Amino acid sequence: MRAEEVVSSLKILSSHLSNLKETLLQAVFPPLCAGCGTSTCGYSPDWLCAACHGKIAFIGDGACAFCGSPPGEHAELAKGCAQCQPDRQSFTRAAGVAEFATPARELVHALKYNGMHSLAQPLGELMARRVASAGFPEKFDCVVPVPLHKKRLRSRGFNQSALLAAEIAKHLQSPLRLDILHRIRDTRSQALLSRNLRVTNPVGAFLASGAGGRVLLVDDVVTTGSTASECALALKNAGAARVYVISFAR
Ligand SMILES: [Zn+2]
Ligand SMILES: [Zn+2]
Repeated sequence: MRAEEVVSSLKILSSHLSNLKETLLQAVFPPLCAGCGTSTCGYSPDWLCAACHGKIAFIGDGACAFCGSPPGEHAELAKGCAQCQPDRQSFTRAAGVAEFATPARELVHALKYNGMHSLAQPLGELMARRVASAGFPEKFDCVVPVPLHKKRLRSRGFNQSALLAAEIAKHLQSPLRLDILHRIRDTRSQALLSRNLRVTNPVGAFLASGAGGRVLLVDDVVTTGSTASECALALKNAGAARVYVISFAR
């Protein structure tokens, strides 16, 4: 056997072994649905089972044009709904992909607390598509995640919003900037607070420098919009002209 034949045979063998390894791994660790934990073998995409996919309450037409709240009795008002009208928030517009309910809640949880970093890819892609369907600009001067305080970043090891922002920036071909917006106060987790406290908790927690033009602010979840509004205020104080907010859950 000539040397090149040996090399070619080894290549074929190596490719068979690699396929075999993949098959064995799938058999031992079948891909599990990030929404409910059942096996997604045979389904596409392999990060969500068909049942969970069917349950996601996607937000589309009819959402509040200003704050992105899901369709409701006042959501058709162009200047804002009952949620956002009394005190106009500092961002230009906000939109979300899905209502914050099962299984969107579990997906955010899996990304944030179960370390399923690979979820940032499909969720980020859905968010980039929502940017387009919500009628936001096609490109931004920068894509900025809602930052964690450095103490929390150290204990968690990553910022889930930064993972999402990186994916979105890639899809929109806009620069990702992690150096513009900082959380200067370690606020309490919004998830643990009442609605009233959620509004005041993030006040004054953010500081920005060197922002400009159109900014896309990225967060995994937006509830009252107060964190996004505080971030937008800091970005505008630092020179941003317009701040659009995109979240996965809303
Ligand atoms: Zn599922
Ligand atoms: Zn609204």
